[in-house]
Amino acid sequence: MEVKDIKSYGDLDGDGGSQIIEQVLSLKEKVQAKLSGVKRMIAIGSGKGGVGKSTLTFQLANQLRKCGKAVAILDADFNGPTIAQISGTKDAKFIPGENGLTLPVSKNGIGIMSIGSLVPESEAVDFSSVAQGDSYIWRATKEFSVLTDILANTNWGELDFLLVDLPPGAERCRQFAEFFGKRVSFILITIPSDVSRGVVSRSYEALKESGSDVIGFIENMDGYICNDCKSVKPLFPNNKKIQLDLQRLGGIPFDPKLALMCDRGIADETSEKSPAVQSLAKIAADLLAVS
Ligand code: ADP
Repeated sequence: MEVKDIKSYGDLDGDGGSQIIEQVLSLKEKVQAKLSGVKRMIAIGSGKGGVGKSTLTFQLANQLRKCGKAVAILDADFNGPTIAQISGTKDAKFIPGENGLTLPVSKNGIGIMSIGSLVPESEAVDFSSVAQGDSYIWRATKEFSVLTDILANTNWGELDFLLVDLPPGAERCRQFAEFFGKRVSFILITIPSDVSRGVVSRSYEALKESGSDVIGFIENMDGYICNDCKSVKPLFPNNKKIQLDLQRLGGIPFDPKLALMCDRGIADETSEKSPAVQSLAKIAADLLAVS
């Protein structure tokens, strides 16, 4: 093709025949319809990775489920989809049904939609692009289009809670806030370090700018459970409670047994005796009290 043949948007008549607006609107309507049975949608985010977002998302779901609620998790962290492993649904099959894909379910009945069940660990999710080497230009667009397809083609059914495990990044929190709109509230996760607090604070500011409802933050790794004496001991040197201009929903100590259970895909077998589980149960009860 000669350069003179390349058209700019100004040369196109209307949408160039693509019916792009109609396509987007019809997909949006489909998503709306598919999520119409979802009472409450909460996205779990953080500016940082590795602070326990996925772990706490699953544990919160677990606690809500124990209270008899219908719960599902959407793992929106396409490049680090760990919910499949944590929930023991890594090898789950997605079965097409009349009203879309049937959600795989963890042993205790939590619906799990995680790309980790579809893409082998040895492969990264590929948002391929026609512009070789410039895939970063299309990345967010393609990622949200995959997310839209997942939302529109899954049978979410009647749910009390749909928890969304977000990818890390303050800017990502805002992108998801804009994508989901008013139907979603946020919980932010931090750990007791000033570095993490700073990044979570940025995420909160970004969410405030987009007018999102932020329920509060959870301080994960708030001490650790000693294997010998079973008491909670300080983990971070600066043993002060994190201060943020946002409600603190609770602190969760690092529980080595929980870490092992997550790795083994049996994270729903946590003991009620664990102080970490007790704190999570309290957070879930508080969430239910305002539902
Ligand atoms: P993120 O989703 O923020 O990247 P993960 O939830 O994957 O972080 O957690 C990172 C690692 O830390 C995982 O191996 C997880 O099992 C472990 N972990 C996180 N929080 C806890 C906790 N409170 N107790 C025990 N292990 C934890």
